[in-house]
Amino acid sequence: MRGGWVCVAVFFLFTCRTLAFDWTLIKHEGRDYVPVEDVAKFYSFTQADYSNDIINLEGPTLRMQGGVNSRELYLNGLKFILSFPIIKVDNKVLMSRMDLSKLVEPVLRPAKIPTAPVHTVVLDAGHGGYDQGASSLLGNEKAFTLDVVERARDLLLKAGFNVRLTRSADVFIPLEDRAAFANRQSKAVFVSVHFNAGAREEAGGVETYSLAPRGVPSTNNTNLSFADFQPSVGNIRDAENIALATAMHTALITKLGVNDRGIKRARFIVLRDSTIPSVLIEGGFLTNAQDRVRIATPVYRQFLAQAILRGVLSYNRAVQRNEASDQMMVRRSQITEEPAPDAGASVWDPLRPNVYTLPEDTRK
Ligand SMILES: [Zn+2]
Repeated sequence: MRGGWVCVAVFFLFTCRTLAFDWTLIKHEGRDYVPVEDVAKFYSFTQADYSNDIINLEGPTLRMQGGVNSRELYLNGLKFILSFPIIKVDNKVLMSRMDLSKLVEPVLRPAKIPTAPVHTVVLDAGHGGYDQGASSLLGNEKAFTLDVVERARDLLLKAGFNVRLTRSADVFIPLEDRAAFANRQSKAVFVSVHFNAGAREEAGGVETYSLAPRGVPSTNNTNLSFADFQPSVGNIRDAENIALATAMHTALITKLGVNDRGIKRARFIVLRDSTIPSVLIEGGFLTNAQDRVRIATPVYRQFLAQAILRGVLSYNRAVQRNEASDQMMVRRSQITEEPAPDAGASVWDPLRPNVYTLPEDTRK
């Protein structure tokens, strides 16, 4: 039913030390929304354009793009899949409050997440033993994931991190045990490595999964079910989870130059049961001819490992930044501009302007 929205409770969505912001809360079909106009104001976008139901918000270092009736949201060209589509009601463009608080806020202001810097990385090579994962003529998922994890371990150790592997051989480890193992580590993050299989051969590219917050559907299942409302222990890390997924996915997309399938939500057991910040990466499709050849190439797996290191470093920088430099997590990428003077190692800058070009289709 359209037009049934009831305004207007003004509320404070976030506690902001310096300046309180009055958000307009709009209820539509039982769900809370906020006007995208408010989002633009709160995050200091200087230009906002909503023509033809395409949303384009621009600020000095950040561009946010989306569309009415779409779940895709682009931040500096990086693709996120929203939990609920952006909608238009009575001529107002609205984003779900859930996506605002569980995605936009932690991604744009990671320094506000109360969390400790990471010292230990738990690497989880997907599958193992009799569980081969996706298979292909060029090799099986379980072998490729272990190889990537071993490469990432070496890089992370060299960078000074403690590293724990859920498996370091071709053995089967139950998913619950992997999460339990991760939960025994402190100041740690959990990175699960997988490769994809698709029903259609043309499906290709990299996607990154973050635990679905309570009350939202998994990305690949758009209808809400009873299970989506069950609490998961991993949900205590909602903010860290999406920040870590953003860091990791940005590193993957920039490092690998592959098709960006987006940052998605799921309730995989390893994410659901982990009490440390967790992410699951799908490093390509073994069912896709081009991806398959890449995955079977050691250089590509080394790039994946390097992206994991870069992702962990970016995450640490993002959540540790002080309030003074607290601007953006994903910086604006423009090949026509000089790199920002602060685009060095000390800021969250995974989309380095000299490396990353906004793909053309982000304006769709
Ligand atoms: Zn897998």
